[in-house]
Amino acid sequence: MDPTLPDMDIEGWFCQKCNSPLTMVKVNVTYMGASFAVDLPSCANCHTTMIPDFLAFGKMLEVEKLLEDK
Ligand SMILES: [Zn+2]
Repeated sequence: MDPTLPDMDIEGWFCQKCNSPLTMVKVNVTYMGASFAVDLPSCANCHTTMIPDFLAFGKMLEVEKLLEDK
């Protein structure tokens, strides 16, 4: 299973810590014991990764539900 995320337009997004432009990077996310790789906007300078609200409260829950149904 490959969770697909909505395309995120991160142009104009800047790191809240150091104000550097964000880039999309593949990161491993763990949620409720399940881990998978997703593309998230991340700061190349200080490595802060942004977790959008829709991912934390929408897609992540959806992914977990799919795993449970298996
Ligand atoms: Zn930063």
